Order: sequence, then structure tokens, then C-alpha cells
Amino acid sequence: ITRPNDLESFWMPFTANRAFKKNPRMLVEAEGMHYTTADGRRILDGTAGLWCVNAGHRREKIVKAIQKQAEKLDYAPSFQMGHPLSFELASRLTTMLPGYDRVFFTGGGSESVDTALKIAIAYHRVRGEGARTRLIGRERGYHGVGFGGISVGGIVANRKFFGSLLPGVDHLPHTHSPENQAFTRGQPAWGGHLADELERIVALHDASTVAAVIVEPVAGSTGVLIPPQGYLQKLRQICDKHGILLIFDEVITGFGRLGSSFATEHFGVKPDLITTAKGLTNGCVPMGAVFAKQGIYDTFMDKAPEGTIELFHGYTYSGHPLAAAAGLATLDVYKEEGLFERAAELAPYWEDAVHSLKGTGPVIDLRNLGIIAGIELEGIPGKPTARAMEAFTKAYEKGLLIRTTGDIIALSPPLILEKSHIDEMFGTLGDVLKTLH
Ligand code: PMP
Repeated sequence: ITRPNDLESFWMPFTANRAFKKNPRMLVEAEGMHYTTADGRRILDGTAGLWCVNAGHRREKIVKAIQKQAEKLDYAPSFQMGHPLSFELASRLTTMLPGYDRVFFTGGGSESVDTALKIAIAYHRVRGEGARTRLIGRERGYHGVGFGGISVGGIVANRKFFGSLLPGVDHLPHTHSPENQAFTRGQPAWGGHLADELERIVALHDASTVAAVIVEPVAGSTGVLIPPQGYLQKLRQICDKHGILLIFDEVITGFGRLGSSFATEHFGVKPDLITTAKGLTNGCVPMGAVFAKQGIYDTFMDKAPEGTIELFHGYTYSGHPLAAAAGLATLDVYKEEGLFERAAELAPYWEDAVHSLKGTGPVIDLRNLGIIAGIELEGIPGKPTARAMEAFTKAYEKGLLIRTTGDIIALSPPLILEKSHIDEMFGTLGDVLKTLH
């Protein structure tokens, strides 16, 4: 960056333009647990980038695999042809998730969500249940920014510009209290059990018009919200009773974040479809994947005339060679270094560290699971997000990257972290929280 004007041309995502231009936080390098900024400072990555760099930054094995692939085959279509690495990666992934025999590659989380919603609707149609087109999401669910994702997502602010979006969408409530449906601001982390609300919503319609329910097993982007015991089981039961497909959006919870490969294992609930992205390639190359339970893919094949498939769907970059290479190398690193087990082993230490913040400054709630945490601050009336943003700025100045959502701080560092990183992270954060107005 040589001229101030250089900062003008990029319309930055998430409307962070003005703040960034005032205070450009330019990251130029990364390694392991750290970023390096343009002015040469090292920043401890408390968020694994955007919940994606689970194996830590710039891992040699992954970088080399991408380089090697780029020198051999830069691109190959996935329509009527393929290349070996995408099949190899799909096969490796299905062995990680027994019971799911097909993987569909996408370019990231939002595409994975769209793909899963389309598979769900098409699945019913192919089976002669074409009336099943309704979708049910959850208040405070986040499923990316595609039209499918914002329709089933529960963040009103994310969809307010875009009209009615997908028709026939309902949202499971997050709490019983209407003023709490909006988003954040000091409400309880999960207002009651509320899985029975699915029965209520289904009863509002003809159950045979509902295609799928989509939830994040742990809601990440809206503040690390962990469901009460039995919530996901109950959703599964109700879906089974009515022939509705259940989709888990594991874009954040997949690939070790909760101390298990996927949240489906952690909670012991098997959805019909699982959406993933982020940790699949350690954030190095964009890629997502949708897992389908055994039998779902066969439905499309069985009903379609010979040589065709009922569902037309696919992206230019589905199974991209560089992403597939990155994915395979990433899975190797996870396995060789036992990073999912490591997350589980470190989880009690992490939990103690999270709860060491009890009563610090404006902290009103602390939530954790595996290596993820939500630190909820009491909001300043009329100034939502102000305290968390102040914490973000101060933490960054002190060399720690955190993420904020509303009045909640989210932490999800790379799983290669040492106890000393946890100490540093919570030491810095504690110091920052004490200074908040
Ligand atoms: N689903 C969930 C649960 C997510 O957390 C995200 C991203 N934070 C997405 C979908 C969208 O992923 P992407 O930004 O890769 O499109």
C-alpha cells in the first residue's frame, strides 16, 4: 500500500470499511499461532482466522501439497470428468464420518448450505413428495450469506434488505421472550429447551410440506450458543416422526473444534446432511463439502432415467485440484498431530481459563466447549456492540486477535495451541476487560 487511495477501491465485506480505513489492520504474514502485521507486530490468533485455520497458519505440509498440485494440474472440471485428488479426498472424508457415504464439494460454507437445502428439497421430490419444500431454521442461526443461508438464518439484520427471500421458511425460537429474538444483548445463552417448538411449527403447516430443519449444533457466529442437553436429540426425533430431513451446519463445529471430529459425534445425533467448509482445508484454499447420509444419493440415481441424474447442481470450483490437495494435506496434519484429540485434552484447561474471567469487568456469561468460547458482556444501553468493539481494539493493540458478535466475544484459536498460549490469551483479555467503560 503506497497511496491512501489504495484503500478506496475494495468494498470490504461486513461493512467494516470506515473503521478499517481509520485504522487499517493489515496482515501480511502468518505462521503457527501468529499473524504479522504490516507494521511488523506479532498478533496471537485467538480466532483461527475466521474459525478456519484449525491446524495453525502456513503449515509446511499443506503449502507444499498446494505447490505440488499447482505445478501439475491447476484446474479440472467436475462435470463429466474429474481428477484423482477430489475422489481421494471424498473417500477420506467418508471414512471420517461413518454412515455418510457421499460428499459433494463446494467453494465454501454458504455454497454448502445452499447445496444441502437443495438436496433436501430435491430428495423429497424424487421420492414423490414434491410438496415438501418448506424449510425451518433457528433464530440466531447463521448459515452464511447466500440467499438460502440468509433465508433460513436467524439474523434479521442480515436479511432486511432482501425482501421475502425463500418462501415457506420458519425459525425455531431461541427464547420465549419476544424482545430477545432480535440478536444478543444480555439475554440468557439459550432460553429454555424449546425443541418442542418444532412440533408447534410443524403443526402450523401440513407436516408433509416440510422438507428440512437446519441448525448449527453449536451456534458460532451469533455468540457461541450451546444447546441444552437433549435439544438436538429431540429435533432428530421430531424430524423422524414427520419424515423431515435434519441438516447440521458444521461449518464451524467440524474438524476438531469441539474436541471431536464433528459435532454429530460429540452430541451423538446423526443428521441426514452435514455442511462443512473452513477447517476442511485449514482455510488455505476455499472449499466446502456437504456430507449425505447413506441412501440419499442413491435416491437420485434410482429414480432417474439411465445415464442421467435428477438433481442438476454443481459449481465451477467443486472439487478444485488445489483445494483437494490442501484438504488431503490438512487431514494428514490433523491425524499425524492428533489435533482433534489434542482439542479434547486441552478442553478442561481451556474451560478453567474461560471461567477465570468470571466477574471481570462487564462479563455476564461465559460459555465453552472443546476449544471454543463465548464471553458475553453486559451491553451499554443504546450502544450495542460498543463494549465488545472496544475490547477488540484494545486486545489487538496488545497483540491478541479476538472476534466479536454483538456484545459477545468469541474465541476459537488454532488447535495447535499450547497452554502458554491459553494463559497469554486470557491474561491479555482479562487485562482488557478490566479497562472497559
Ligand atoms: N455456516 C456457518 C455455521 C458459518 O459459521 C459460516 C461462516 N461463518 C457459514 C455457514 C458461511 O461460510 P462462508 O463464509 O464460507 O460462506
